[in-house]
Amino acid sequence: MSKILDKFLNENLEELRNAGLYNEIDPVEGPNGPTIKIGGKELINLSSNNYLGLATDEDLKVLAKEATDKYGVGAGAVRTINGTLDIHVELEKKIAEFKGTEAAISYQSGFNCNMAAISAVMNKQDAILSDELNHASIIDGCRLSGAKIIRVKHQDMDDLRAKAKEATESGEYGKVMYITDGVFSMDGNVANLPEIVEIAKEFDLITYVDDAHGSGVMGKGKGTVKHFGLEKEIDMQMGTLSKAVGVVGGYVAGKQNLIDWLKVRSRPFLFSTAVTPADVAATQGALQKIMDSTELHDKLWENGDYLKAGLKKLGFDIGQSETPITPCIIGEEKLAQKFSKRLMEEGVYAKAIVFPTVPRGTGRVRNMPTAAHTKEMLDEALAIYEKVGKELGILK
Ligand SMILES: *Cc1c(COP(=O)(O)O)cnc(C)c1O
Repeated sequence: MSKILDKFLNENLEELRNAGLYNEIDPVEGPNGPTIKIGGKELINLSSNNYLGLATDEDLKVLAKEATDKYGVGAGAVRTINGTLDIHVELEKKIAEFKGTEAAISYQSGFNCNMAAISAVMNKQDAILSDELNHASIIDGCRLSGAKIIRVKHQDMDDLRAKAKEATESGEYGKVMYITDGVFSMDGNVANLPEIVEIAKEFDLITYVDDAHGSGVMGKGKGTVKHFGLEKEIDMQMGTLSKAVGVVGGYVAGKQNLIDWLKVRSRPFLFSTAVTPADVAATQGALQKIMDSTELHDKLWENGDYLKAGLKKLGFDIGQSETPITPCIIGEEKLAQKFSKRLMEEGVYAKAIVFPTVPRGTGRVRNMPTAAHTKEMLDEALAIYEKVGKELGILK
């Protein structure tokens, strides 16, 4: 190994470990359901994005197996050569129906979708106004585009208006985009889309909403844009197929000309192999389930409200969440990690989230209740939270 690489790795790893910022990965021994097995131990799982429980759904498993039998295990090529199977096209139609748009394009993941779509539309003559708490994949997509990135204070509409005015009136830029998460995954708060749309109209901003945590959760399952009835106003509705939808993949939904452009200009669509037939079939089935019934959505919210009320009553700082995402904000990184570790020893898997995923000094344990949890599981989790919270002096 190169000496300089070896030194770089060892020094930096040690620094992270000393600061309590090194993330240890615990492999899950079985399905990622409402309970999980880690190290042979059964734990109540409050850390997955499997909001509706669809990642382990029996009907979807059948669809995945059937598609594998019919098409094989791989798509065989990138979408633009001959990796586009008829089911990929059907899936994109289904996504457009789900999102209430003319068309949609799907990608291999939400992360590469942001890399792909932002940089296909924006370039170095342009500017992107970006909420300061946007997801890492948005930040990377913006950087890749070469556009000027202008950070906007988190959900601060006055700051957005001022910066939109400055960027558009300066004459320095071609296009100007505003990009935001629909639901912010570390805090569970929702973007103020009605006001964003108003400002966008005033300054002709391109609007891009990453609804990774809103789809399946907001708008009776159809997402944050639908929640506000703004399907016709938001230019680019981006989302993932890996969270509430339970499988894997990403997409952009919007007008036909936008999707036509992304199909010829987004690089992961052109240069990376399409998702497998099993993924496509399971995803289609999952979207259909979300469109057909709000039962899972309703159960998710019921569980979210229950857990939130319980944690709040115990005295935890649960922040400003407006969704089932429920952070317990602890503050100091090492304490947040210790808290999470003790929860795990007692039977709850709730991962500590620390810098750089959240700002320094706002270390937290984030709880993600799902539709698949029972009240008994949540009660047990709350009892463990109380015990560990008192033990570590977080609760009085
Ligand atoms: C998880 C997430 C992504 C990435 O989605 P994947 O499908 O997991 O790659 C993108 N944006 C946001 C806001 C996310 O939370």
